[in-house]
Amino acid sequence: MARSAGVADRRVCRAAGPRAGSAASAPRARRRRRCRPRRRRADRGCELRRLRRRLRDAARERAARRTHRDRRRARAAPARQALVSADDVEVALEAVQVGGVTGAAGVGRVVADGEHARGLMNRRVLIGPIDPCGECDVCRHGGAAVCPHVRVRDALGARTTAAARWLVPLSDGLDLAVPAAAAVAGDVTAAYTLYARTGAAPRDPVVVVGATPISRFLIEILLAKGIAPAAVGSGGAWADWLRGKGVAVAGDRAALAAAFAERSLGTRPWRVICADPATVAAAVELAGPRAMLTVLAGRSPPPIAGDALGREVTVLGIAGPHPDLVVEAAAMCVKGEIDLAAGTTLAAGDPLRTRVCEIA
Ligand SMILES: [Zn+2]
Repeated sequence: MARSAGVADRRVCRAAGPRAGSAASAPRARRRRRCRPRRRRADRGCELRRLRRRLRDAARERAARRTHRDRRRARAAPARQALVSADDVEVALEAVQVGGVTGAAGVGRVVADGEHARGLMNRRVLIGPIDPCGECDVCRHGGAAVCPHVRVRDALGARTTAAARWLVPLSDGLDLAVPAAAAVAGDVTAAYTLYARTGAAPRDPVVVVGATPISRFLIEILLAKGIAPAAVGSGGAWADWLRGKGVAVAGDRAALAAAFAERSLGTRPWRVICADPATVAAAVELAGPRAMLTVLAGRSPPPIAGDALGREVTVLGIAGPHPDLVVEAAAMCVKGEIDLAAGTTLAAGDPLRTRVCEIA
């Protein structure tokens, strides 16, 4: 019964309603009063539905705008990444080192910089052959050249990308002439790395093996550090240049020992530095009991004779120039301790000078 009465009420509410003063007007008016809250609730329900619909439409519109913007950004991102990533810069090369056993090196100007590599824009920088990560345990133990995450540049074109943290900016008292400066982060720093890793002191008997541009820079570094090295040679331009520098030149172990005795360097175990991987066999022969043998391994490490281990020779391999040492090498060039102009050449075929090439 209650249900049928409710249906009737609704029917009445929807009808136009009786005229005023009729016999049914009083109860109907009461019913109308009861119906008003329901109508207001229904109106509010409609408004809420309309409001929800408007909110839903607005949300859809915002999502569509967002999707369009994301797509636009996604299209633009690869172009930025291809140009230069956050920690890198792009360098327009002015001159490069040609050849060399440790990879490419050069000098150039920064033409684009990454988000985290600000401050080098338009500056002239020295660039070496490797970008180690600088964070791993190998790097922390001085092994930048053999970092498992290293980026190697075997050759340089007109432009290249490099990690900003390893570049050495010129100027501020560190001015070097182009194109000779191209060799600084390459052969010159390779020579400095050989010296630094050997840890030679002024009263140590040091023998340099190999007649290369790196040997030449190494001799100049040793002399500047107060060390009187001897070198293996048997005549020719290399021996002449060594004698011009006051360096003892000898062809075998006995002659080298005599040279050290003459300079009162005693009979202490030698420090033999091999700057040319092709002459490592001769260097191993010279490394006597308890000697230290430092070898520039380059990209193709030479085999080491096992009998050196029987003499308790300490063998140190150098895979390439350490980027942290470029500043020291450059400073020695600026001070004239390393004759950079004389140690580099634009011509091909000079075995005692690093060949450099200008980029047009
Ligand atoms: Zn590393």
